[in-house]
Amino acid sequence: SRQWQLIRRPSGWPVADDFRLAEIELPPLADGEVRVRNEFVSVDPYMRGRMNDVKSYTPPYVLGETMTGGAVGRVVESRSDSLAVGDLVRHFLGWRDLAQADAAAFAPTAEVPGVSSSAFLGALGMTSLTAWVGLLVIANMKPGDTVFVSGAAGAVGSAVGQLARLRGAKRVIGSAGSDEKVALLTGKYGFDAAFNYKNGHLARQLADAAPDGIDVYFDNVGGEHLEAALYSFNDGGRAALCGAISVYNETAAPSGPRNLPMITTKGLRLEGFTIGNYQQHATAFAAEVGPLLASGQMVSDETVIDGIDNALEAFFGLLRGENTGKMVVHTGA
Ligand code: NDP
Repeated sequence: SRQWQLIRRPSGWPVADDFRLAEIELPPLADGEVRVRNEFVSVDPYMRGRMNDVKSYTPPYVLGETMTGGAVGRVVESRSDSLAVGDLVRHFLGWRDLAQADAAAFAPTAEVPGVSSSAFLGALGMTSLTAWVGLLVIANMKPGDTVFVSGAAGAVGSAVGQLARLRGAKRVIGSAGSDEKVALLTGKYGFDAAFNYKNGHLARQLADAAPDGIDVYFDNVGGEHLEAALYSFNDGGRAALCGAISVYNETAAPSGPRNLPMITTKGLRLEGFTIGNYQQHATAFAAEVGPLLASGQMVSDETVIDGIDNALEAFFGLLRGENTGKMVVHTGA
């Protein structure tokens, strides 16, 4: 099995020398174990945090051990009564082409006709659930709200914007890091307005896109984006603080937001969350989003990188904004 391991903790932007691709011979299956050939392995921004040796909501990666993360694959050998060869499973033993463990580590997953198994990592999986929970449970978005989402062309952000529109937002605004992504937001994803945060003054671009202010902010980026949102908030606004990718590779303390007193003067509610604590919403999420995707009312893009050998490049590309929608690594069949 080819497996990616962290061998040195990155300082700032991770580099190839922080990792190694190990070739590991798998032992014969023990009783109760299964072997799974991964079809898709997920690379996600939170993994950058796990490369640091700090206590967080997910434990840090152990140096010299194979990195874990979301993956979907198919059972190719089984010594368990609960899983049979050919079964599609989701699991958390990512960053490898073959995974072997007790059957309990793998969750059997019903196939959806016509849908790639990669969807269980994105549009029908963790990132879309994050969008749904953040928008509806944390930020409590209501029809008539003006909603702003950053990282809007990514896996979480593209789902947030479309859900907001379908749930009756008055206006949906997105920011992203290229003109191509901005065109996708106002075209295919149906945002009312969008801007490229790399083109000029961020707070002014948001103010221009939201002449009547914003009521909800879904934050994937932190820093200057959050500061801009605080300026544009209407009284009583709500923010779901989902991520802060603009600071994940920073070595210095973030310079903003510098306008936190606006939380008080505008009576805002900012709430952070991690999706692991909100799995109880998975059923309601799937009941709403499954049919929306099947009918085409909601669309999802993926950026697919081929081969487990290229998983590290996929991860670096994610941090650099080379993905549209969910970034996944295609590892087999
Ligand atoms: P994305 O698909 O959005 O990929 C990351 C994107 O971040 C890139 O495509 C890039 O797009 C953007 N980006 C990178 N650097 C910067 C920067 N300096 N400023 C602004 N944008 C930047 O990833 P996900 O959808 O998986 O995750 C989005 C966010 O949600 C992340 O912050 C992640 O940590 C968080 N998250 C939180 C969860 C939770 O439980 N709270 C669960 C899942 C995700 P661009 O070209 O636009 O710059």
